[in-house]
Amino acid sequence: RGRMVEMAEAMGTPHALAIPFPAQGHVIPLMELSHCLAERGFKITFVNTEFIHERLIKALPEDSNIKNQIHLVSIPDGLGPGGDRSLRKLCECIPSAMPSDLEELIAKINESSKDKITCIIADEYMGWAVKVAKKMGIPQAAFWPANACLRALLVLIPQLIEEGIIDANGITRKQEMIQLSSNLPVFDTTQLPWHCFDGLVMQQTVFHHLFTNNQVVKDTDWLLCNSFYEIESSAYPLNPNLLPIGPLLAGSRQRELAGNFWPEDSTCLSWLNQQPSCSVIYVAFGSFTVLDQTQFHELALGLELTGLPFLWVVRPDLTAGQAATYPDGFQARVAARGRMGGWVPQQKVLAHPSIACFLTHCGWNSTMEGLSTGVPFLCWPYFADQFLNQAYIYDVWKVGLQLNSDDNGIISKEEIKKKVEAVLGDEKIRTRALALKEMAKNSVSEGGSSMKNLNDFVEAMKGK
Ligand code: UDP
Repeated sequence: RGRMVEMAEAMGTPHALAIPFPAQGHVIPLMELSHCLAERGFKITFVNTEFIHERLIKALPEDSNIKNQIHLVSIPDGLGPGGDRSLRKLCECIPSAMPSDLEELIAKINESSKDKITCIIADEYMGWAVKVAKKMGIPQAAFWPANACLRALLVLIPQLIEEGIIDANGITRKQEMIQLSSNLPVFDTTQLPWHCFDGLVMQQTVFHHLFTNNQVVKDTDWLLCNSFYEIESSAYPLNPNLLPIGPLLAGSRQRELAGNFWPEDSTCLSWLNQQPSCSVIYVAFGSFTVLDQTQFHELALGLELTGLPFLWVVRPDLTAGQAATYPDGFQARVAARGRMGGWVPQQKVLAHPSIACFLTHCGWNSTMEGLSTGVPFLCWPYFADQFLNQAYIYDVWKVGLQLNSDDNGIISKEEIKKKVEAVLGDEKIRTRALALKEMAKNSVSEGGSSMKNLNDFVEAMKGK
């Protein structure tokens, strides 16, 4: 026993440094992974950009205990106070501005602490951090926060260029419907995820960012993703070494999660307690998506028209330009059954028995969360990988319906009412959604595929 203790002491506590891309949908899943590792005996240093760090700290509840579990630190993103932090600027600036500060931070931690950094877990969008880890001789893992099919698409980019489907800047040259492998979504080559951004320069910047990082992390020690094998098994042979460890759902396991950019309003949970079982439409568009005023009004009227209770997350920046205004008299008319408000604990909301369906923008985290709770989806995608996620939900897993726009590009109130009724009345969708919920639960239970991958990673990082 004495020798075991000696060995454990010599090895010290495993200490992971996690570094997400500065966007909500990236911070949350990496924070969840960090919690999983903390529970398994890891010390965690979580590195945000200064800008995001400040938002996170402001959003923490006063009685937060998080700092005792996760060491939250920050380094500058190079864009200065008040700088333009559009996706394009972040992609252009971060890879040159942040590496030396990260190196310095690690050196400082290693000098001052007995628990030296033993591994670096970098969001794949921050591939440069894998390079820093390699340079400093620290074991590394890259973390892919989206689906494995999208990642396979990035792996296959040289082939797409060679076949003349896209040019070297990612711009489509041939319109085709492609399917990378059986049981994966079919998608249109004119709607590749980076095409959904405004303007050619932006599209090319995002394309190069994704492709370059995909190349950079190719031979990293570990390549993890927030998905599970059973829902997209044909994507893994196309993704050498990619290990699914999801669904990562720390918040739903009643833990405090320090990843929110907005303060969380948990009072919606007691409101949900008062609603009949399986009756509430939950409406949320993640952290980025923006609606124009006309569409915002139409959505409000559509929810009213359903006659059902609804919980609608209306972020302060959900509408383009000015703050959202509701249709005349809307708030009074729906007061008894509708709740519009700020950021909610989404994982807990989705797991609540009163939720009947999830009207979502189909971000990957929201998709995984809805799937893990067995809730049927109504898909309202906007950009990036959301169309691909919708294709999974609607065409492949068949656990939801899509909302279609009219000739003016608007999703009408009648369409909303019709699809809500259709999804709630479809027993097959509900049965399939519940079967996927079970599959998700099994994958992260003892002996499940994701749990096994996570355990292998943990053991390796503990040096066993
Ligand atoms: N989310 C939340 N409360 C809300 C709305 C969203 O906690 O009121 C979380 C949601 O649970 C998910 C994340 O924000 O984990 C959004 O990520 P997603 O990939 O779905 O969308 P993105 O914001 O990246 O577009």
